[in-house]
Amino acid sequence: MTAQSLEQKCIEAGLKMTEPRKVILSILAHAKDHPSVEEVYDRAKKQDASISMATVYRTLGLLDELNLVYRHEFNDSDHARYEVNREHHHHLIDLDSGKVIEFQNDEIEEMKRKIAEDLGYELIECRLELYGKKLKK
Ligand SMILES: [Zn+2]
Repeated sequence: MTAQSLEQKCIEAGLKMTEPRKVILSILAHAKDHPSVEEVYDRAKKQDASISMATVYRTLGLLDELNLVYRHEFNDSDHARYEVNREHHHHLIDLDSGKVIEFQNDEIEEMKRKIAEDLGYELIECRLELYGKKLKK
């Protein structure tokens, strides 16, 4: 989702588009990773020093309520991480480094759809997280 369409969706949902919010939305829209609240805050501060941690928290919470961001908790000990709705994908988390790798797999998609269908359901959403350690070669 682009920053612009994200802004549009927020306005449609009745959120006031303040400057700090615009900065936060643009950071999320441009993020190629899965930033935590702290990371969004660090990036936001570089663009607008007046942005507070509380604003970042509140904004991410609102976006989460509106289903405009995905909130991930990849590890029990890890902080929540956020990403805007992008192309459908899943995550593999490296247990040693905490690195998050995104992947897509058509066979899994087909399998998920079939599992849901066999149970009498249409598949709407699926979150899949793989946790692993890098193979030693
Ligand atoms: Zn992702």
